[in-house]
Amino acid sequence: MTDPITSMQNIVIGYSVLGRPITVEFIGDKESSTRIFIIVGQHGDEKYSRKAVEQLVNHLKQRSTHSFYVAILIDANPDGYENNTRRNSESIDLNRDHVMLQSIETVAIHSFVRGWMPKIIIDVHNYPPRRKHLLKKHLILSHDIFVDIPTNPAILQILDDNKINGFFMALKSDLHSKGISCERYTIFQKSGKIRHSTIDIQDARNSLSLRYGAFCIILEGREPLKKDGSVGENRTISSQYCALYSIINWLEKNKHEFEKKTHIPKKNELVPVRAHYRDSNEILKMDLKNSKTKITSEISLKKYSPNIEITKFIEMPEGYVVPNSLTALMEVLKKHGFSHDSKTNIQKQVKIYYLSDSLTDRGSKRMREKIKTISLSDYVVFPIAQLGGRFLALLLEPRSKFGLHRFHELKLNFLEKQEYPILRI
Ligand SMILES: [Zn+2]
Repeated sequence: MTDPITSMQNIVIGYSVLGRPITVEFIGDKESSTRIFIIVGQHGDEKYSRKAVEQLVNHLKQRSTHSFYVAILIDANPDGYENNTRRNSESIDLNRDHVMLQSIETVAIHSFVRGWMPKIIIDVHNYPPRRKHLLKKHLILSHDIFVDIPTNPAILQILDDNKINGFFMALKSDLHSKGISCERYTIFQKSGKIRHSTIDIQDARNSLSLRYGAFCIILEGREPLKKDGSVGENRTISSQYCALYSIINWLEKNKHEFEKKTHIPKKNELVPVRAHYRDSNEILKMDLKNSKTKITSEISLKKYSPNIEITKFIEMPEGYVVPNSLTALMEVLKKHGFSHDSKTNIQKQVKIYYLSDSLTDRGSKRMREKIKTISLSDYVVFPIAQLGGRFLALLLEPRSKFGLHRFHELKLNFLEKQEYPILRI
């Protein structure tokens, strides 16, 4: 007899470019409002994270009761996995495709999230411990686990700062007690600057949080070095399994935190559209391995930018008015499933921006604004009062650092001193 509260089933949520099924497996209590989605293998060559999640699946299947409902996508990039490549078969890096949704694999992930609405998403990866510019200083990254949460400042976190700190502390100390080292995901740039993750919205972590209000956790397990052999491989897999186990237990204890309603933006709400990592005099103390002596020791690192400084807020309009003629952009907005109104023959007052400098990859800073009355027959209106309305602002505002000017595939050809094609009402 099957346990009535525990259901297990698989569904195919889409197919890869080469026709391989993208399959999600469900474990746990169907009725639970705590829905957790675990994504593995966006990068097809990160095989250890897959093995760690397989161990978690086995463990969860053995539990007699569940207080949550988990969906697991073990193979987000089946063609990449088959060919042992990071990217999909069209050379798209899936974890940089969460704005444009050019790959059918990423589209499948987004439509699944939109339909199933998980409160929590865990995006599982492996990271290479050797970086060329660090090796020049004889340094290798030594943490078993790197972990982070969304960091784009436009994202309204479900958890407050105290809870987030509590999450990091609980995970670190639990893993530490098992001899596993864990730190916030740390990026060492070629310039020598050090920061945590990225504020860009092209990855699953930031994009899915901004679009669907989910709490996204990125979990990176350190890849073993070849010379570490099977001992190294097993350490990588078991460390990441322990981290997943620990995260699931923390989520279980704190599930009430995720019962809040998802935020729906309102007109005039402020959204940060530009931000940067602020230089600081702070020093990061972090364990790193010396590639010559093989000794891991705490190193004091300068040029550490732990803080993000917001440099531009915009006030949200009631909606963005997108001309039908921008077919590539319209396609992207459709793939994201944003709600829209197509009102024919309605006259409406809109705000038009005139750019006084060209839109570069930094976005436009100088512009004039005019009010005009136009017929909406050739436009589609995307209201901001919808789930992910803040995502629309980041994508469609001309002053946004994360805006359209970055995506040459949209063929928008922004020129100097012209009308910005997207209007505001
Ligand atoms: Zn990865």
